Formats: sequence, C-alpha cells, structure tokens
Amino acid sequence: MSTYDYDVIIVGSGMSGGIAAKEFCEKGYKTLVLDRGKPLEHRHYKTENVPPWEMAQRGQKLSKKELEENYPVNQHCYILNEYTKGYMLKDVDHKYVQKKPFNWYRSSSVGGKSLLWARQVYRWNEIDFEANKKDGHGIDWPIRYQDVEPWYDYIEPFVGVSGSVEQLDILPDSKFLPAHPLNVVEREAKQKVEQAFPGRKIIPSRVAHLTAPQPIHTRLGRAQCQARSECQRGCSWGGYYSSLAGGLAAAKLTNNMTLTANAQVQKVLLDEKTGKTTGVQYIDTETLKAKTVSAKLVFMCASTVASVQILLNSTSKTYPNGIGNNHDVLGRYITDHVGGAGASGTIEGHLDSYYKGRRPSGIYVPRFRNINKAHGKFLRGFGYQGGAGRSGWRDGMYKDGIGAEFKQSNQLPGNWYLTMWGFGEMLPRYENRMYLDKEKTDIWGLPQPVMDVAVNDNEVEMQKDMEQSAIEMLTAAGATNISSGRGDFIPGSTIHEMGGAVMGRDPKTSYLNKWNQCHEVANLFVTDGSAFPSQSCVNPSLTFMALTARAVDYADKQLKAGKL
Ligand SMILES: Cc1cc2nc3c(=O)[nH]c(=O)nc-3n(C[C@H](O)[C@H](O)[C@H](O)COP(=O)(O)OP(=O)(O)OC[C@H]3O[C@@H](n4cnc5c(N)ncnc54)[C@H](O)[C@@H]3O)c2cc1C
Ligand code: SF4
Repeated sequence: MSTYDYDVIIVGSGMSGGIAAKEFCEKGYKTLVLDRGKPLEHRHYKTENVPPWEMAQRGQKLSKKELEENYPVNQHCYILNEYTKGYMLKDVDHKYVQKKPFNWYRSSSVGGKSLLWARQVYRWNEIDFEANKKDGHGIDWPIRYQDVEPWYDYIEPFVGVSGSVEQLDILPDSKFLPAHPLNVVEREAKQKVEQAFPGRKIIPSRVAHLTAPQPIHTRLGRAQCQARSECQRGCSWGGYYSSLAGGLAAAKLTNNMTLTANAQVQKVLLDEKTGKTTGVQYIDTETLKAKTVSAKLVFMCASTVASVQILLNSTSKTYPNGIGNNHDVLGRYITDHVGGAGASGTIEGHLDSYYKGRRPSGIYVPRFRNINKAHGKFLRGFGYQGGAGRSGWRDGMYKDGIGAEFKQSNQLPGNWYLTMWGFGEMLPRYENRMYLDKEKTDIWGLPQPVMDVAVNDNEVEMQKDMEQSAIEMLTAAGATNISSGRGDFIPGSTIHEMGGAVMGRDPKTSYLNKWNQCHEVANLFVTDGSAFPSQSCVNPSLTFMALTARAVDYADKQLKAGKL
C-alpha cells in the first residue's frame, strides 16, 4: 500500500487555495499548502496604520527608477505604491513572454492577491453559464447556475458579503450582511437613471466587508469593518475577506495544515503505471534546493496563468505536452474582463451634505445589454462600478496658489463627482492561448509562459457602448463636465484572468470535468480561474471560492468511497 507525506497538496494559498485549505483541514485531511510567496502572518502588515509622513515617499507612487528596475509589469497596476509594494511581486525576477501585450499582475506573499483585491463580489446568473452554448463561442459549461447556487449559499456567510436584496434575475442576491448605504448623490442618480432607462439599476456595490460580523467571523478574530478604506495595506481587523484572515485562519485552527512559503512548485508528478499524480516537485526559493512531496490528491490553486504554467511544465512519457494534455486543450481560451471604458462628471449642489468615514464600496450598475434583446454590434454584456464622492484637499495638488487664502480653500470639500467604469465579458476564443517558451526560464528554472491573447471586434464594440452608455447615464443623473475614456485594452489589466484549463464534458476539447477534476488524471483538480470556460461580466473571485468548496466536497466523497 502506498504511503504519502500528506493527504492533500494545495498549490497556492490565495483566494482559492485558502478555501481549499479550510475545507480539507476541517474535514480532517492532513494538508500541505505550498506557496511561492514570502511568509506573511495575518496582522503582520508592516505598512498598516503608518501615516504618510512616516513613509519615505509619503506612501505615493514609487520612483521611476524603482518601477522600471523591479516592476516592469506591476508598475501599470493601479494598486502599486509605497504602501503596497511589499505585497507585489518584483516581476523582474519572474519574467514571461508577451507575444501580444498581456499585463500579468502578481502578488509576492502568502495569501496571494486576496490581500490586494478590491473586494467586489457578485454571483453569476443563469445566462452566464449558458452563454457559450447559446452563441457558440467557447466550450459549453458542464454545469449550470443551479449547480453552483448551494455553494454560493455555503461560502458567502463565511466570506461575509455586504449588499442589498434587489431580486434581479441578472444579478442573483447573495446571503447578505447589511449594505454600505448609498450617499445622497448616488441615491439621486439612482432615482434619475432608473426613471430615464427602465431596466437599468443603480445599487450599492456588493463587497466582502464585515458590516455586521457573525460568530463564524469573530471565531477567527475578524471584526467589523471600520470604513477607513486602507484595505490594500492589509487589515488587522479582518474587516475585509482575505485568505489570511479567512480560509487560512480557519485551516490553521484545525492543526491539520502545514503551510510552506518560498516554495515554487514546478511540476505535478505522474505515476506512469497508475496514471495518477503522486505529488509535486518544488524549489525552495531560499536554498534553491529541489524537493518532492507526495499526497493522495493535488489541488492546483496557483492562479490562472501560474497553474497552467505548472501543468504545461509537468511533462512525462505519457503526457509530453503537459500532464493530462493529450488533446492540446491546456492553455486555451484565456480571457480577462474588458475594462478601461466609462465616464465621470461633476454633480452640482448638495454642498451641505457630506459623509462619514471612507466607505470601501460604491455603486454597481448590473448588466443590461443582450438580455432579452440583442444589441446587434456585440455579444454578451458589461456592468459598471463607480460611485459619488466630494473632491477634497487633494485638488490643491493640481492648483496654483500660495498663502492663507489658498490653504483655507484646500480645507473645504469640493464639488460632488460621479463615476461609472465598465467591466465587460470577453469572448472565449480557442486561439487566445498561452504556452511555454522552449528556451527561456525564470531565475528558478521554471519555463516562461508565452502569452498570446488579444481582444477582437466584439470587445472593441462593447467598449464603445460602455463609454457611450456611461455618458448617457451621467447626463441623466444631472452631471456636467463629463469626461469619458476608452483606451486600447491590454488583456490582464483587469486582473480577472480566466481559462487555460477549462471545464467541459468532452476530454478532447476540455481539461476538467464538471467537478474541476482533470479528465485524464483523476486525483488532480484545478479550482482557480483557469477552470472557467467563460467569464460572465461580474468579478470572479466569489465563484472561484464557491467552485473550490464544491470540488473539495466532491473529492472528499470520492476518497471516502475509495474511488480516488
Ligand atoms: C488590485 C486588485 C483588485 C482586484 N479586485 C477584485 C475584485 O474586486 N473582485 C474580484 O472578484 N477579484 C478581484 N481581483 C482579482 C482577485 O484578486 C483574483 O481573482 C484572485 O485573487 C485569484 O485567486 P487565485 O487563488 O486564483 O490566485 P491568487 O489569489 O493570486 O493566489 C495564487 C497564489 O499562488 C501562488 N503561486 C503562484 N505560482 C506558484 C507556484 N509556481 N508555486 C507555488 N505557489 C504559486 C501565489 O504566490 C499566490 O499566493 C483583484 C486583484 C487585484 C490585484
Ligand atoms: S475599510 Fe474596513 S476592511 Fe478596509 S482596512 Fe478599514 S477596517 Fe479594514
């Protein structure tokens, strides 16, 4: 009988890996979590609560030299500044090839991008899971909304989702904690826009923040969000969901988890006789020593591109093109949400109104295109994120002035503004792919992925409508000085990359079955965004977590039935 070092190995400790760790550990499995990132403990956030005047660069943007030397790619991510740089990968050490421009933004520590995310969480809907079948783009999902619904119900109370009940088919309600309320200008915009455009809605954005912590949260030491919106420096209250405050914390309580940082997984290993994986090989990035660990199951949660990179590199006699990849399906159908189009404007009046705290949320405009009526110029849809606020002293940075009067003018809040920026669904395309470079590796010897992904006419037409519809709605809301934008979209920039090891029914056209299980290698599962054959238009992480919990439940039952 085989003996293993662990029951389960989870590759990656971020959004999906944290949930896999919690679920397996709570079921009693001895679980090893391997992460390439540096070690980081919840509440050990170095720049949290440090005022700008104690930061060398006042917490602002990094110098051009530092950006170019260390962060040639991450420098384009809006989140990188002096406060957050400790959590972002020095991507100069982890090169990849951009056959076509692709911004691959990555994190540098345990917890992955769950530390850095903007915490917007939305359920997918029925038409999202049917879209590929209906319009013929991509592989049909082997599951439907009803398959995922119980897992949303399961995961949301643990994560903590604040939002409002709206009863919209296009955006199913979650199990909510109270919403962060809309402010006066947002309420007015809601009323005017919904009147001018029947079918369109403005609702409070749904965010993974604890507005009313429950025992399931306080048990982990998580506390109420203080609405100060400094989340991306890390939050010792655990006011927002991160893998460190949530999934990994719950796994730790069971004493069943071993978490190894600085462990860059390079290969999933195959037993040629049984056709199953035996574990993984990784490099200790501190000692540069290669190590092998074994387990009954391997769960890949290293994030979309990284998981596919490892799988493609896992070659053997049986699978010379990557483990389980006999039909050239691995690396196909890479997508990212189309962004970079929308508008903002000034709202006159309401100068006697202000708001308290810095609410870490805003408004959401759910998808309204291509639901009952075809738009004609593009398929699928988009939603908007945005909000209203009052400009403040920061405006002074862009004004000329000197003296007492100038200083006083900067102490007063400015006008109200309202913004709406779109997130749209990119069509899944077979030719939008990644593969490994035959010669180039990173400094630890892992072959570099080559990104060959581009948007097409559908996305360009969608962006045009995103911009135009935002202008229309801001106008209806009474905005003036409207400025709008629509840039050339570089895939990866929205940080919602998906696809590459997609689920499907047919092993010839997809990599995973409906349980996130590799068609060819039964004890190998992939539960991050790479499993997604299409991408809806809403933010994906909630669905990554729901499908991860579902896959663990299935694997547990299979193991107990002696089928794995
Ligand atoms: C600024 C920002 C804002 C965002 N906002 C939102 C939002 O509002 N809503 C939303 O839904 N999503 C948002 N996202 C995206 C969200 O963070 C990701 O979808 C999510 O974190 C992906 O989860 P994951 O588990 O696949 O990957 P990650 O959370 O990135 O975790 C992957 C882990 O795997 C590790 N890893 C990688 N390669 C290896 C290897 N070879 N060996 C071992 N370990 C490895 C990494 O170090 C990392 O810790 C945002 C992301 C960013 C950066
Ligand atoms: S706004 Fe809430 S979640 Fe964000 S840092 Fe403050 S307390 Fe934490």
